[in-house]
Amino acid sequence: MTSICKSIAIGFVLLLFASNSCTNKTKTSQASNLDIVYFEEFDTSILKSLKLDIKKFYGINTNSVKYDKLPISTYYSPRNRYRADSLIKYLNLHKKQSNNLVLGLCTKDISVSIHKAKDWGVFGFGYCPGNSCIVSSFRLKKDSKPGYYSRIKNVVLHELGHNLGLTHCQDTTCLMVDAKGKMSSIEGENRKLCLNCQQYLNGN
Ligand SMILES: [Zn+2]
Ligand SMILES: [Zn+2]
Repeated sequence: MTSICKSIAIGFVLLLFASNSCTNKTKTSQASNLDIVYFEEFDTSILKSLKLDIKKFYGINTNSVKYDKLPISTYYSPRNRYRADSLIKYLNLHKKQSNNLVLGLCTKDISVSIHKAKDWGVFGFGYCPGNSCIVSSFRLKKDSKPGYYSRIKNVVLHELGHNLGLTHCQDTTCLMVDAKGKMSSIEGENRKLCLNCQQYLNGN
């Protein structure tokens, strides 16, 4: 999920779902476990629900690990953001130790080079397929708009879907839709995969 921005306000009207690196439906092996690496002041009160929802949605068991600050090597000072692609490389180092999929959760703004933009602000990012993804709460209006948990859950499930081999989906009701700037595309308590995406994950 992505959104470019020169400010938070602008960011919200631009792309939410990103991961445009997903062009091939290459199957990845279904991971049995996931490590959630959460940084700094990330709201840990939602971790329990998130673990349950990930298990319910993908059948993946989750452990959580606290890390301190985001690595300074991933910081992009001209925009006061952290590079999501660099963070994924960093998380892949964790993956080498644990051999689990890795989901990074942070509160700082994150960005990637996509859509012909050098630095495009994103909600989350994950390669397709991949071993790690990163989700930021920075743009999800935690304190100012109801439904924060649903938004972060939907972004998490979307990016994990990329890691598991799902590309963006044309079905506008599907969790894997490329939201293209619409906050509405990441809202909703019961967003699901469409039949096609579900069948792909099931190997049919
Ligand atoms: Zn995406
Ligand atoms: Zn779909």
